[in-house]
Amino acid sequence: MNIPEIRLKRGKEESLKRFHPWVFSGAVASLPDNLQEGDLVKVVSSTGELLGSGHWQIGSIAVRMLEFGPGHVDDEFYRHRLRQAYDMRQSLGLLREDNDCVRLVHGEGDFLPGLVVDLYGNTAVMQAHSPGMHMERARIAEALTELPQVGSVYYKSDTTLPFKAGLDPVNGYLLGTESEAVATENGLRFNIDWLRGQKTGFFLDQRDNRTLLERYAKGREVLNMFCYTGGFSVYAMRGGAKRVVSVDSSAKAIALTRANIELNFPDDPRHTAIAEDAFKYLAEMPDGAFDLIVLDPPAFAKHRGALKNGLLGYRKLNARAFEKIRPGGILFTFSCSQVVSKDAFRAAVFTAAAQSGRKVRILHQLTQGADHPVSIYHPEGEYLKGLVLQVE
Ligand code: SAH
Repeated sequence: MNIPEIRLKRGKEESLKRFHPWVFSGAVASLPDNLQEGDLVKVVSSTGELLGSGHWQIGSIAVRMLEFGPGHVDDEFYRHRLRQAYDMRQSLGLLREDNDCVRLVHGEGDFLPGLVVDLYGNTAVMQAHSPGMHMERARIAEALTELPQVGSVYYKSDTTLPFKAGLDPVNGYLLGTESEAVATENGLRFNIDWLRGQKTGFFLDQRDNRTLLERYAKGREVLNMFCYTGGFSVYAMRGGAKRVVSVDSSAKAIALTRANIELNFPDDPRHTAIAEDAFKYLAEMPDGAFDLIVLDPPAFAKHRGALKNGLLGYRKLNARAFEKIRPGGILFTFSCSQVVSKDAFRAAVFTAAAQSGRKVRILHQLTQGADHPVSIYHPEGEYLKGLVLQVE
């Protein structure tokens, strides 16, 4: 097969030699004619040296690199990379009888830029973040079913594909038809609805942080703000919380949370779920009502242009929690905005703490779990930031 070639400007090969997985459009000297979005291309330096291959697309990221060097990107390539991703999770002990859900592929972190796969029981839910992975979806689905455990593959890319591609990202089963699952995470059970849920249906990235929260929950009154499917709430219940209140503005999320609590702790009077805006709830709740608060909002800054307002949002939200939390309380606070750096998030939380006049100490600094690995050459892949704070 004749693979088109993209030539870089002089000096622009350096980052690729350090395995950074993106070629920015400004680094490209010349494009071949008739290139289609999603095409596999070879990338060469200004002197013609082969640097590797990847998927081309329109936009500021021009190529997402799949292979550095002369290797071919074929069926065997996908089989091999997916097998490596699976084996890695298994070797880390993340696939067990009491833990059958895991992020199987985390894009750049698994050397498959543009591809995300979450595994729930026997179903792999796949998202393409690039036109190239969209084009390859059938062969990726085939390769996925060769892995142990995977029976069906659901494709869900309606919200993730760069819309400039003008592709038709139909959602649907590529293989098999299992329509829903009860997944087990650390022995707790969760209904997963990938058809109607946000993203792939569940936020696996918080698994370790939920485990940490469980450790601190005993005897505490817990407020789980932005609860979505109630992950933190279910762990708090098992940890022996005295009372757990889950809040989300979405009525659907509240229904999901109630169902998950019911699945694990039927008729347990310690739990209440409330559909309400977070800022409104925090403003109206009495001082000192809770001594463990979780703030895990949606990304307040989805792109660079929204950074300033996003940081202001984190500051205001955290300020409310600092004002209201009971003395001696613990605050778990997160940002999942990729464009908000660890330092910027910490500065926003610092400002909120200072405004409240409370004494605050950092107990833990958190991030995403090991099934969301970050290539050291691609620090942009570390998106989840969390602080566990003790408030006097
Ligand atoms: N903590 C969750 C994930 C949170 S996702 C988990 O561990 O699974 C973000 C959630 O915030 C969504 O469910 C969304 O419905 C909710 N949300 C967005 N804006 C909100 C607001 N202003 N007030 C309350 N909830 C909000």
